[in-house]
This record gives sequence, structure tokens and C-alpha cells, in this order.
Amino acid sequence: MKVLQIGCGGLGSPFALYLTAAGIKELTIIDNDVLDISNLQRQILYNETQIGKDKVKSAKETLVKFNSEVLINAHKDYIDEDSIKTYLKEKKYDFIVDCSDNFKTKFLVNKIAIENSLRCVIAGIKDFYGQIITINPKISACYQCVFSPIKTPPNEGPLPVIGVTPGILGTLEALEVIKTALGLPNLENKVLMVNLIDLRFNIIDIVKNENCICSS
Ligand SMILES: [Zn+2]
Repeated sequence: MKVLQIGCGGLGSPFALYLTAAGIKELTIIDNDVLDISNLQRQILYNETQIGKDKVKSAKETLVKFNSEVLINAHKDYIDEDSIKTYLKEKKYDFIVDCSDNFKTKFLVNKIAIENSLRCVIAGIKDFYGQIITINPKISACYQCVFSPIKTPPNEGPLPVIGVTPGILGTLEALEVIKTALGLPNLENKVLMVNLIDLRFNIIDIVKNENCICSS
């Protein structure tokens, strides 16, 4: 199984650790950030000795020690409509997974998944709250069927967060990839809403929007 992971911070840390430990065949990570001390409360893939270094480089160094049989590809890059094409040309992936910290990238990952028929998992977090969706392109409802890009502030930066929240949502993203690959029940046509203040997990059934990009 070949997985393309977009972002390697709070969500991406547990996601990459669990998928590597599980022994997936190949994990390709794209991230453009350098590790800052303020990242360490939630980005558990990294430690103090790696501050100031490229995250993808440090991520690869750690992950290969977990499971030498998993091929880890690490690319320091921004993801946009053009740059992603290079990576999609290189090989055929089974999944694209959003571990980014902004809405713009989440909508882009969703679009890429639909255009390239890639299974997809997208999670979002804010302080003690999160949500996660799994997409079977053109078959199930997509991220944009549920969330509107128009209502999203265009320059939204990283959202404030407590470290455990991306820990749980990133772990659930890994679980979704593994369950989907095994043909087990997943979050297609559903959004899981996670409330870590009240410790509530609610599943909302969603339907494919016939006017959405996933229906054309
Ligand atoms: Zn849609």
C-alpha cells in the first residue's frame, strides 16, 4: 500500500508513526516546515535536538528506525495545484491523507483525491474539537459536500490546539487508512465529530451533493 501524506505536524506525527509501525509498504510525506520549539507540545514525532531542522528530514530519520521494511520518501515542499502533479506522476498511490493545518490545503487534497481517484482521509482540529471524514472518490460524499470553501476565511493560519487533540485525530486517520484497506467499516458518507471536553464522539450521516465537484 502506497500512502501520500500531506503535512507532518500535529496530525501527521501520530499518523506517520502508526502507519510505519503497522508496516505499510510505502509512505511519502510532503511538508515544507522547519521545526520550532513551539511545535513540540503536539508534534510527537520530533524532539529538542531537531529544532531548526526540516521536519521531513527529521521525520524520515525517526521513522526508518521504527520499521526498516517500510519505504519512507520525504519531500520538503509546498503543496499546490502544480507541485502535487509532480508527485502524482511519479507513482500510483492508494491513499492521499490530509495532515495539514489549514482549510485551503484540505480542500485541495479533497480535489486531488477526486480528480485522481485516490482514497482519501481528511481531519481537522481546533482546541478540544476535531472532525474526520473518509472519501471514496466520486462514490461517497466528499469534504466539499460537507464544508464550504466560500465560508472559510482565505488567510486562515494554523488553528490553536492542545497537543492531545491532533494526537487522537491523527491516530484516527491512521485507523481509517488501515480499516479502509482491509475493507472494514469506515467513515465514508459519515463525519465523526470529536468533542474532547465532554468526551463525546458523534457520527453524522452525510449525503453526496449532486452539485459538488465530486459529482461532475
Ligand atoms: Zn462532494
